[in-house]
Amino acid sequence: MEFVVFADHVGTIESIDADIERCERVAELLAEAEDELSVVVRFLLGRVFPAHESTKLDVGPRLCYEALARAAGHNVTASDVEERVASEGDIGQVAESYDLGGQQGLGAFGGGGPETLTVNEVRDSLETLAGATGEGSQETKRDILFDLFNRAEPEEARYLVRLVLSEMRIGVGEGAIRDAIASAFDVPVDAVESALQVSNDYGLVAEVARSDGEDGLGTIQLEIGRPVQAMLAQSGAVTDAVQDWDTVAVERKYDGARVQAHYDGDTVSLYSRNMEDVTNPLPEVVSGIDASLQAPAILDGEVVAIGEDGDPRPFQEVLRRFRRKHDVARARENVEVRFHAFDCFHADGDDLLDEPLVDRHDRLTAVVDPSDHIEVSQLWTTDDPDKIADIEAESLEAGHEGIMLKNPESGYTPGNRGQNWLKRKPDVETIDCVVTGAEWGEGRRANLLGSFELSVRDGDGYATVGKVATGITDEELDSLTERLTEYILTEDGADVDIEPAVVFEVGYEEIQESPTYSAGYALRFPRFLGVREDKSPADADSLERLERLAEA
Ligand code: ATP
Repeated sequence: MEFVVFADHVGTIESIDADIERCERVAELLAEAEDELSVVVRFLLGRVFPAHESTKLDVGPRLCYEALARAAGHNVTASDVEERVASEGDIGQVAESYDLGGQQGLGAFGGGGPETLTVNEVRDSLETLAGATGEGSQETKRDILFDLFNRAEPEEARYLVRLVLSEMRIGVGEGAIRDAIASAFDVPVDAVESALQVSNDYGLVAEVARSDGEDGLGTIQLEIGRPVQAMLAQSGAVTDAVQDWDTVAVERKYDGARVQAHYDGDTVSLYSRNMEDVTNPLPEVVSGIDASLQAPAILDGEVVAIGEDGDPRPFQEVLRRFRRKHDVARARENVEVRFHAFDCFHADGDDLLDEPLVDRHDRLTAVVDPSDHIEVSQLWTTDDPDKIADIEAESLEAGHEGIMLKNPESGYTPGNRGQNWLKRKPDVETIDCVVTGAEWGEGRRANLLGSFELSVRDGDGYATVGKVATGITDEELDSLTERLTEYILTEDGADVDIEPAVVFEVGYEEIQESPTYSAGYALRFPRFLGVREDKSPADADSLERLERLAEA
């Protein structure tokens, strides 16, 4: 498929307001794609590589502006591009407005190729770009981008630049792609959903849906090195658990960050709750798993920060590791961590997702030989509520967050927040909100963002629920400002709109009905507790949960 055809479809898709019609247009585009189907799917989601792959383009706006300016010709400089982006907001629109092309080749990649770009060619060029490292890599990247822009029609440039800068924003999320795959290849949405939960690879699922239909989707299996969506828990009561399951499996609820560990017999890869590769930030877990496992396996568990006395530390201390990707050594000096494995989906060649929890836990115990930084959760099975109360008291006493109650006979259902895992934690509730806006401070603080607008998920969009300004240290304010500035969409005086990207954990005293915010509720006395580095906007709390909390 020519990239201009892709861009033309995307232009139409972006201009449609109604979800159903937009999804139909996406389905048409998928049906039209040939051998580039998986690439088209990823591009629509604004990705060049599958979500779980750690390969990154690592292209900053400045590099892109320089490449664009070169392709636009003599009179345009990178600073001109930057100024226009600052005043017009959308880099795609700015790129589209230039009369690109016709510039003579600059560097190894400049101006050599044929005129028309194809989708696969764009993918190949961006793969080469991502592979450029070390001395001279910035020039190589700039040359590759220049070559792409120099060959692009205006509409192509609009989406190319957005793709490169991870700013696709065409209103097509993962849910829309799932529905479009189902509709384009005439397979049930549930079958697409299940295949996605196990593989998390939208491109692959689209290809299998097209080539082998529903039956093919059912055969998509676990693969070591490809994370599975985490099974989630609901809040629940001991009495209900005992009544529903007779025997209850009880575990400590560790207060850390969810991590999935994949070991292929040679290499260890670690993934966070939102399936980002967190192997580098957790070197002692990597070496611990390497020492503890004698056979290939996939483990689910929690990474907990440990104080000098061996007791658990607050979970934000682990999340700090995820943030300080480039400074692991320093973070490691401050925070020691331990991995508590509590589930196992694959052990030594056997896929275990459909096995009962207690059997999976037996396999877990058999496959893991605990080492310095690796432990296996203790699992009690009982029908005695008093015994459960004792475990809960002991768990809290030891500094854990509470307990988990699990149905001992249940399989592992990826991505599902069902009735088979119940969580009990006595702490006051907190809520995870997406930052959708902010205000610049005044006077001495004019270059810092101050109060942050908080939103919950509402369908495919977001509904505001309050603003938070308290609980943020000066150091945190500096780093939040730096980080959120990247996501500013528009500015109006001191008010800024921010693209949903960062999730705050927020404490509050009460939730009240309120006409002030679009959720219809307001958080009273909200206070910032930390950034949920392990959550994407799609994992933030929903309007339904807010309503439930307000009623409680
Ligand atoms: P959620 O994950 O439910 O969206 P959350 O991230 O705030 O919300 P919690 O409400 O604390 O998480 O409860 C579920 C989380 O508890 C799991 O995702 C996991 O990270 C953690 N956890 C700790 N110990 C266990 C355990 N033994 N079994 C399963 N999960 C556990």
